[in-house]
Amino acid sequence: MTKLITIHLMFFFISSFLYSQDLQLVDGNFVKMDKCGFPPESESQVNSIDNWGYSYDSLLTDLEIWRQSPYVKIDSIGLSVQGRPLWQLTITSDPNNIAGKRTVYIHARTHPQETEGFWVTKEIIKILLTENSFAQTVRENCVFYIVPMYNPDGVELGYPRRNANNVDLESNWFTFPNEPEVAALKARFTELMASPNPIEVELNMHSSSLCKRYFVYHDSTGTSPQFAVMQQQFIEGVRSYYPTGIEPWNYYVSWTGGNPMKYPESWFWYYHGESVMALTYEDMYQCSGTGNFNVTAKAILRGVMDYMNIPTEVELSDNSIPSEFTLEQNYPNPFNPTTKISWQSPVSSWQTIKLYDLMGREIETIINGYFEAGYHSTLLTVNSSLSSGVYFYRLQAGNFTQTKKMILMR
Ligand SMILES: [Zn+2]
Repeated sequence: MTKLITIHLMFFFISSFLYSQDLQLVDGNFVKMDKCGFPPESESQVNSIDNWGYSYDSLLTDLEIWRQSPYVKIDSIGLSVQGRPLWQLTITSDPNNIAGKRTVYIHARTHPQETEGFWVTKEIIKILLTENSFAQTVRENCVFYIVPMYNPDGVELGYPRRNANNVDLESNWFTFPNEPEVAALKARFTELMASPNPIEVELNMHSSSLCKRYFVYHDSTGTSPQFAVMQQQFIEGVRSYYPTGIEPWNYYVSWTGGNPMKYPESWFWYYHGESVMALTYEDMYQCSGTGNFNVTAKAILRGVMDYMNIPTEVELSDNSIPSEFTLEQNYPNPFNPTTKISWQSPVSSWQTIKLYDLMGREIETIINGYFEAGYHSTLLTVNSSLSSGVYFYRLQAGNFTQTKKMILMR
């Protein structure tokens, strides 16, 4: 009995502690999760043996590719706990001359497992380096600083959410001393904020188990009524370029009990108030709708330009639209229990992919939604009750259907 009461008291203590730290309002309900949809301050996932599909070496390979562009300069803002450089790309028309440029900062992969936020960031880099009039306008007006892998040690150790010292870097911004990664990024922010080109927009790229794309909105009680309106305009501005993919500004409301004083955004608010639009963006973490990273990246870039009043009336030319519908073979195959399904659509339309058994009985709907023309993929994780054997998956888009076979091997 005494033990039970103690447990109850402990639970009460822990929950009130969490509530006092940071409350989130999701779809009208208060929830006790961090903004990425995981239990706060906990290692809720097993470690990865493949660095969540994109390792530090993968980054080094990409850096060599990006380095060939005349619009890119690459340097390091500091070192991680284990001594890995925190690489930063400078992207602008002439990276050695940033005079008069408007500054945007983006950092990704604080939480190593949340690769989707990185895939969007990689698409942003790709767009910024493209030879077309949109990218040219952006480069002529702005300088983008991008840290694609802010927690390389966590990535290399296969940790889901922490750095080599087992600290969640996301919430270390008001603890002292800071972790080296936090100290490095904070020093860089401080340097830029004191420069003639202070940061105007800072995006912190994550992905969420809530399986939605959203910005973490900071309530006026934790910021100001003026900043609340600015955030709404920013988020709805981005969303206007991808209304079917990104949630409205009030989907995820944070800081309802004041500023929690632990996030990078808290730091920006505390020191620089309304002058910096500092927001976390959450992509979909390993969900059936995961994908469309290029669509999201374009929406974010267009929204940022609109927010900064930089006219980009020219169309964002896109030569990456496939010429016909194709349903690709799933990978891996055979699989257990997760596999990736990719498909291409030449037009924007409502598209569904369903899973069937050998007898043609429908087992589940894998995707069902409006997709832009382009290259898409989704991860399928089958129910543990499904037995080994042959299954079919079918893509339907208008009059087009295509079916492929997959093998589940328990
Ligand atoms: Zn996260």
